[in-house]
Amino acid sequence: MDMTERTIVIVGAGITGVSAAEWLRRDGWKTVLVDPIHPGDPGQTSFGNAGLIARTSVVPVASPSLVRKAPMMVFDPDSPLYLRWRYLPRLLPWLIPFLRNANPKRMHEIAGPLAEMTFDSTEQHMALARGTKAQAFITRGDYISLYRSRSYWEQDTLTAEIQKRFDMVPAPLTRAELAERDRNLGPDYTFGTIYSDFGWLSSPAGYVRALFDHYRGQGGDFRQASVVDVTPGEAPTVTLEGGEILTADKVVLSAGAWSRRFAKSLGMTIRLEAERGYHVSMANPSFTAPHPYMVTDAKFVLTPMQGALRAAGVVEFAGLDGPEHPEPPKFIAKAVKRVYPGLEFESSTSWMGRRPTTPDSLPAIGEAAAAPNVLHAYGGQHVGLTIGPKVGRLIADLAGRRTPNIDLAPYRPDRF
Ligand SMILES: Cc1cc2nc3c(=O)[nH]c(=O)nc-3n(C[C@H](O)[C@H](O)[C@H](O)COP(=O)(O)OP(=O)(O)OC[C@H]3O[C@@H](n4cnc5c(N)ncnc54)[C@H](O)[C@@H]3O)c2cc1C
Repeated sequence: MDMTERTIVIVGAGITGVSAAEWLRRDGWKTVLVDPIHPGDPGQTSFGNAGLIARTSVVPVASPSLVRKAPMMVFDPDSPLYLRWRYLPRLLPWLIPFLRNANPKRMHEIAGPLAEMTFDSTEQHMALARGTKAQAFITRGDYISLYRSRSYWEQDTLTAEIQKRFDMVPAPLTRAELAERDRNLGPDYTFGTIYSDFGWLSSPAGYVRALFDHYRGQGGDFRQASVVDVTPGEAPTVTLEGGEILTADKVVLSAGAWSRRFAKSLGMTIRLEAERGYHVSMANPSFTAPHPYMVTDAKFVLTPMQGALRAAGVVEFAGLDGPEHPEPPKFIAKAVKRVYPGLEFESSTSWMGRRPTTPDSLPAIGEAAAAPNVLHAYGGQHVGLTIGPKVGRLIADLAGRRTPNIDLAPYRPDRF
């Protein structure tokens, strides 16, 4: 295909938008990436996540055990689930289909297309980052889940069943084995499970910034502006705040949890919720973790990062713009003390981010019939960093009319 003068505008420059922009640039497109903030800024979700390249994630977010426990959890101040009650009515159009997916049959159905996104994520990150400064942030090692007792792990038979289907069952570790690997570990965690050959980023923000710097250095365009409207059609347009209109051959919508804002102009329903999470980052700790830990009772991941130990997780439903809740960082800080009773650090900072989550835990990838030439690329939920490079590559395939060798039907953006 003659690519001269083929222009594509990418709306949103988190891991998904930067990945798409870079793959499209490599394909010969004239790329214009648009975002009011710079990649690596704390305002984007890609800044503050736990950094896991979660190749083993095959279990959807909605599960029967979550639904069973959620009503109690939202009333329990000592639990990792938060809800702003006033927001509940606006959450319902997303929550109801989300709950419909919280059964074993749907979980098994979703797990296939979810695994398709995650299984080769390490290779996908390497393919994108190779030859750029981003590569140095990719760290390899083990990933261990910590449990208060073996019975918590054994109870979750549905997770085990799904993991088994994809050959993703982790190996069990005894308390002695855990202590042997990490003498700083607190006594509460008496059982663990391990995945070897795992990957994480030593700075998610540094990584996205390095990919972006590479993209710019190779001639990729960036406009620091907020997009107020996207019009689909033969020659789709993107309107910037202030009124300037960019005309393109194609548009990529990769604005993370903010992507829903464009549903009306696209004439379609976008079921996407800001599934908010928090992190506490502890600078210059007296010791660090040998590898990331999933702390299962408190639902956060503790990751050794550059100059800091980061604890990131929990779930809050309070809308895109609702103020930060004061409790989650306190909850996380308290739980870190259980993992590492002897930990000291110089200072700590907290952060809130918005996971873009669909009711069926699957991302939206590609074009909707109602809105030609607009390629959807959002919905990465808890694994958005993991799958960003692959989603970006699939978008480049679709834009270049190459047929990807996977079935994209489960990710159709107009499935809701
Ligand atoms: C606490 C926590 C821990 C996590 N841990 C992990 C993990 O370990 N591994 C993993 O894979 N995932 C993890 N995630 C999920 C992951 O961070 C997200 O799914 C991912 O960052 C989403 O990337 P994105 O590019 O789609 O969105 P974002 O990074 O949010 O980027 C969206 C961009 O769109 C821009 N934008 C918004 N509105 C407009 C507009 N009108 N015009 C132009 N631009 C706009 C925003 O400014 C932003 O820069 C975690 C998330 C949280 C909250």
